[in-house]
Amino acid sequence: MTGGTSQSTKSGHHFSDNVNRALRDTELQQRLRLMLGLTKRVRYTAIPPGTPTDMARDKGKLIRAEVVAHLDQYLEEFIVNATARGIHVHLARTSDDARRIVLEIANKHGVRRVTKGKSMVSEECGIREAMLAEGMEVTETDLGELLVQLAEEPPSHLIGPAIHMNHRRMGEALAKITDDGKALPPEPQLMMDVTRRWLRSKFLEADMGITGANFGIAETGTFFIVTNEGNGRMTSMLPRVHVAMMGIERLLPTLDSMPTILQLLTRAGTGQWITVYVSMFAGPRACGELQGPEEQHLVLVDNGRSKLLGTQFAEALECIRCGACLNACPVYEKGGGHLYESVYGGPIGKVVTPLYGSSPIANELPHASSLCAACRDACPVKIDIPRMLVGLRRENKFPGKLGRLENLGVAVASRVLASPALYRFAARIAKPLMARSRRGVSSRSAGKSHDDGWITQGRGPLSQWTLNRDLPPLAAVPFRERWRRKKEGRSG
Ligand code: SF4
Repeated sequence: MTGGTSQSTKSGHHFSDNVNRALRDTELQQRLRLMLGLTKRVRYTAIPPGTPTDMARDKGKLIRAEVVAHLDQYLEEFIVNATARGIHVHLARTSDDARRIVLEIANKHGVRRVTKGKSMVSEECGIREAMLAEGMEVTETDLGELLVQLAEEPPSHLIGPAIHMNHRRMGEALAKITDDGKALPPEPQLMMDVTRRWLRSKFLEADMGITGANFGIAETGTFFIVTNEGNGRMTSMLPRVHVAMMGIERLLPTLDSMPTILQLLTRAGTGQWITVYVSMFAGPRACGELQGPEEQHLVLVDNGRSKLLGTQFAEALECIRCGACLNACPVYEKGGGHLYESVYGGPIGKVVTPLYGSSPIANELPHASSLCAACRDACPVKIDIPRMLVGLRRENKFPGKLGRLENLGVAVASRVLASPALYRFAARIAKPLMARSRRGVSSRSAGKSHDDGWITQGRGPLSQWTLNRDLPPLAAVPFRERWRRKKEGRSG
């Protein structure tokens, strides 16, 4: 099977266009509500506040911060130790370098068929597309990745690439691998059985396997991946050549630090105590061993990461790619991962995409946040994403697409909010102004009694706000007045 391009995003030119499109897609809305409600719940059930796992977040933060602060040293240690194990370590400064390195390895071994495990960094570098362009057959073996490959869509979540697809859409995508070319009924067990059978022959025929690597361990020169489907093991162990890809920042100092990060990664990501498989790689098959690749390569990708070292954005490199911030984010929850037109979506994507990723709407992403900080609370290594989003806005490197009117509005709001007298005056005139902005009852509230003061179809600047949501009325009695009355002993 040679799937199509995974980057064939059909999104529009602006982030807001993507949002409006996603909000109109009722199937997507249902799916996101279901899946993100679940993933959010499992994260908080697996890491309840005040428990040892919750406290391990501080330890995890220290481990990752230590690596990022001394990345040059840990990289050197890791490369020396990995090379001593017989792993061919390559440094790719850019995504072009990464593609060239992987293609050179493939061509040297006359590779025609490739199986691939889930790897965000390989998506970032466009590895699959590069191999397909060279006429190789590339098969994604993670079920979610396979589904989006078959559907010719980009992945929409760090750990659940097909989280946006409902069972009907999955069955349709799998039509490409059924004997009769027909869509499968939306039955999960049947879909998995068909896919498993089809993938078996791909695993056995592959000349080369490509996987990601969750982390490398500097002290030992080994690296590991976590999976739930076992596809990572077959991708790495069955073909003659195994190529793993990893961002340069994805290191742990010692083997002792691994359990802390492993528990945080799996519990924050999927709520599992531990994933079904944790596979540690320590070099190619040795003499007398029955399993493993004849050659093992590890491509360490920089692609803009080292530029962040020593800056206020270096903290983004501490990310362990668990996806918990995506699940917690109200913006992601309403639109899914395709909003961002980037391999890295959600809150952490809004930071790293403008800095070292690529997206036609990268400049708008730091503004696509309410700064509610749900991402920071969910993050197992306590990365302060809102701080970096504000930093990106402040540096004004990414001015976004704030119109003149919006800029004026923000300037006026900051004056009003800084002055009690102006605030009181604004509150007095806001109510009649809002009432005049009310134009009617929107289709969202049609059929319901909606004479409750909510603005459903605003005029002028308010029309953008009410395009997809209603605006509550101002309180009949302002808080300050209620407070005054309370202090005077009168009821509100
Ligand atoms: S920023 Fe934190 S929550 Fe988000 S993916 Fe990275 S580690 Fe997970």
